[in-house]
Amino acid sequence: MIEFHSYFNSPPVFLYSFYMKTTKLLPVNKEFRINNIFCVGKNYADHAKEMGGEVPKEPIIFLKPTSAVIDSGQAIVLPKISKNVHHEVELTILIGKRGKDIPLSEAMQHVAGYGVGLDMTMRDKQSEAKKGGNPWSISKGFDTSAPLSPFIEASMITDPHNLEIRLTVNGKERQRSNTKNMIYRIDVLISFLSSIFTLEEGDIIYTGTPEGVAQVIAGDVLEAEIPGVGKLLHTVQ
Ligand code: MG
Repeated sequence: MIEFHSYFNSPPVFLYSFYMKTTKLLPVNKEFRINNIFCVGKNYADHAKEMGGEVPKEPIIFLKPTSAVIDSGQAIVLPKISKNVHHEVELTILIGKRGKDIPLSEAMQHVAGYGVGLDMTMRDKQSEAKKGGNPWSISKGFDTSAPLSPFIEASMITDPHNLEIRLTVNGKERQRSNTKNMIYRIDVLISFLSSIFTLEEGDIIYTGTPEGVAQVIAGDVLEAEIPGVGKLLHTVQ
């Protein structure tokens, strides 16, 4: 009996790995444990403009916790503390190789694959944080704020800086652009990030959203797509 109790009083070790967030690299179907999630703010000029801000002089970086990640098909849950949650469709990058101070010329060698992600944002809470000079962790990192598709091998993408990127809500187009409009390109982002953070296998980068961000409400159906790369389908609740 004593053994029985002690077994159930301390959670078995395998539960820890069970709850770790993972993603897949296709078509090889290799599994990656998701490590850090870096996000880039205002990386499309037209989005910077609609946010009423200047184009940033260097990349704006924030992080999301891995607990925010959901797979396509899982519901986006609106937090009760917000009255204005926005969609932001983004090209995502999976890092496949560790690196620190990565030179521009070697940056693309660290990319394992590309995917599509949504950077769900409590816009009202983010505005409050901006005004107060406070971090964005709550407005950007809440549960279900990081829908993420599986990744497609980098070698299968001819030019990651020429990909169509789009999002519909209830079948109506809200965002449509091309990754060629990114201000800071992928190699620049990787080199910049690695000058501050050691990049590890399993790190993910959300590369920023184009214009057209807007509110979602309960019942909305979101479809995000980068043709040839990935697709996301989510309902909002
Ligand atoms: Mg974003």
